[in-house]
Amino acid sequence: MKVTIVGMWNSFPNGTEPTSGYLLEKDGVRILLDAGSGIAGGIQKYIGIHDLDYIILSHYHHDHAGDAEAFMLARRVARQLKRVDRNLKIYGPESGAAAKTIRRMKYTTFLPVKGHKAYTIGPFRVEFHRNEHSVETYAIKVTDDNGAVFVHTSDTCYRGSLVRFSFGADLLLVDSKLYEGFDGKVEGHMNAEEAGRLASKADVQQAVLTNLPHHGEREVLLDSAKQHPVGKVMLAEAGMTFEI
Ligand SMILES: [Zn+2]
Repeated sequence: MKVTIVGMWNSFPNGTEPTSGYLLEKDGVRILLDAGSGIAGGIQKYIGIHDLDYIILSHYHHDHAGDAEAFMLARRVARQLKRVDRNLKIYGPESGAAAKTIRRMKYTTFLPVKGHKAYTIGPFRVEFHRNEHSVETYAIKVTDDNGAVFVHTSDTCYRGSLVRFSFGADLLLVDSKLYEGFDGKVEGHMNAEEAGRLASKADVQQAVLTNLPHHGEREVLLDSAKQHPVGKVMLAEAGMTFEI
């Protein structure tokens, strides 16, 4: 599968670089994982906004789902003009006002995530892990029909169960909102040392630190992560692509 980092900033876009959004593609099937603020514009650098039929939202914070409505409105217009004949399908948590908005939107089909259930979308198998965050939030694992494994932790505290969930992944996108020394348990996020620990214990092929803070020297995040024996680790950048 091909993975494109459309955006990776925490909280708000940085100029034209969006918050969280990751595009997965294989055999003409495209899934967008998270649609944070700026993603509806940012994705059009890579594909047309109507070329996407599946969005999976890890949770409904603005930096992960703020542009979901823009995608739904785009689909409504395209359906009304008969340019597209399929509904947009959005997977997401069942709790929260955003779920109600998605349910009500014409030409969008809402598919509530059940944590224990696996879903098949074209060549992809999608699984979820319930995170520890301030609202109902899921880490997302996508395995393709060649066995390539992608994991996006989304926002979460460090948890041992995430090691099992991510184990052996070819590519791990890991929440690194916090600099080392900040208490992830309080914030509902991981600091970069915890992100490195997760990547190391899960024995992933490569780890990408994402959900990055706007402040501070971000290279320090890498130093913190590398205290643990990890293979390849890097900072997310908008436009980065991976073939796994
Ligand atoms: Zn969040």
